[in-house]
Amino acid sequence: MLGLMQDRPLALPHVFHRAEQYFGHKRLITATATGETTTTLAEWAVRVRRLATVLDTLGVSADGRVGTFCWNTARHLELYVAAPCTGRVLHTLNIRLFPEQLVYIAGHAEDEVVFVDRSLIPLLEPLADKLATVRHYIVIDDGADVPIPEGWLDYEELLAAADPFDGTFVIEDENTAAAMCYTSGTTGNPKGVVYSHRSTVLHSLISLVADGAALSERDVVLPVVPMFHANAWGLPYGCLLAGTDIVFPGPNMTPQGIVGLLERHRVTVTGGVPTIWMGMLPLLREHDLSALRVVLCGGSAVPRSLSEAYREAIGIPMLHAWGMTETSPIATMSTPRSHHDALTEDERADIRARQGQAVPLVDIRLVDPDSGETQPWDDVATGEIQAAGPWIAKEYYRGEGGGAQFTEDGWLRTGDVGTGDRYGFVRLVDRTKDLIKSGGEWIGSVELENEIMAHPKVAEAAVIAIPSEKWVERPLACVVVKPGETVTGEEIIEFLTPRVAKWWLPDAVEFIDEVPKTSVGKFSKKTLREKFGGYQVAGPTSHEPA
Ligand code: ADP
Repeated sequence: MLGLMQDRPLALPHVFHRAEQYFGHKRLITATATGETTTTLAEWAVRVRRLATVLDTLGVSADGRVGTFCWNTARHLELYVAAPCTGRVLHTLNIRLFPEQLVYIAGHAEDEVVFVDRSLIPLLEPLADKLATVRHYIVIDDGADVPIPEGWLDYEELLAAADPFDGTFVIEDENTAAAMCYTSGTTGNPKGVVYSHRSTVLHSLISLVADGAALSERDVVLPVVPMFHANAWGLPYGCLLAGTDIVFPGPNMTPQGIVGLLERHRVTVTGGVPTIWMGMLPLLREHDLSALRVVLCGGSAVPRSLSEAYREAIGIPMLHAWGMTETSPIATMSTPRSHHDALTEDERADIRARQGQAVPLVDIRLVDPDSGETQPWDDVATGEIQAAGPWIAKEYYRGEGGGAQFTEDGWLRTGDVGTGDRYGFVRLVDRTKDLIKSGGEWIGSVELENEIMAHPKVAEAAVIAIPSEKWVERPLACVVVKPGETVTGEEIIEFLTPRVAKWWLPDAVEFIDEVPKTSVGKFSKKTLREKFGGYQVAGPTSHEPA
């Protein structure tokens, strides 16, 4: 027997029309090179309707890929909605990628047009003759003093000349592609993840659940996480569904710029990678951030010490989330639950440092990479985290990667290794390719890094494997000291000794000026491994496996 409920597509037109109808009075604020602009959602919605017409005028095909090369701005949000609501596919290009990666990605996705912020023209223009599929470049003037190349079109002129689309947007099949995003390619070529309308709408609801960011109409949200990375964790669409005000940081991603916006606009919810929040830490006490209730953090492990430093300075710890481009990206979140009530604040900090419990509609399992067996949730056994759910990728665009990342029974192999307690609170130990195999036993580099970063004089730490004749691999700690501080390798080892197993202690500590980062602000261990390839430990070490 079948259910007798309406079969209405879960599609982004609903998100747009809801925002337009109910939340026209809400504000979109964008920081620009010269100040700030404010529009209402009602004005924004008319612009979305005009943009829909512009896409037709430009001759973008029915499911053409619409590239964006933009900061987080209200105009980028226009593209976020107009492209998918007219059946096109939004393709957010990561402005921090290497030129050859951008050329590869735009060609692979066959982008037909690219909308570019004026300040970013210098990054895109040199590639234009290699972007064979792109027919038009449309410049969004963000006030930057940058010349506009001949033949590139002006966004405002196109919009002004276009009649607003005056009907209701319709996407009949909810499985139609809405947006695509390429993995940042820390391993191999970037691979295209293609989000559907259905997956995007369902995932957007996660930012509204109470055990997550709990977005409501009263919120003022500042997404620091770039809109060119995994759809800014679903925040933009979540904000439209909830009817929040949104503050966009534009091109100024400095800690000073962000903290100023948070204070000035009484932002209640914000989200970004740990690097951003680390940079802002020294500024917290100089600003009134009393409106803030959620600092969403993920993309890399959130150091416990960072979360605690926020709790001490502004009274709220970080809301830790885990996921990846392939998981839309939110897959787990870590808010302490009722069964944690009896814990001390210190113990709760340990819970918050975990990646957390799978969010509703996502399934997670831990699988032993050697035996293929599903591991128990006993907080001891580790395994590769595999994920399944309506917003988890089932394959890559054009079958790239040969399906190696998907199991026969249809789960995504995330490449992350973790353990989890009986409530399913995951603790991520490492990525499979970063694990250090010493004498046949695994050492989790992420765990080790977190312990080192708890040292009061350490700003950042990354741990990589170095070759060892005896043990195959041993850990090397690469440490960045806080400005104005000094610390020795011996002090680091001494600090770690009571905190980790003896054989986990790094064989050597190297001090570096900065941990190299990927295009989305994560530790680039690939770069570190290249830098320290063939590293020789100066003397014998006393803490090798027994
Ligand atoms: P890419 O895989 O292309 O580098 P993603 O942004 O998709 O880019 O990265 C996803 C990966 O980032 C995850 O597989 C995981 O290793 C890491 N990651 C994301 N969130 C967390 C987190 N909260 N804790 C630890 N690692 C995280």
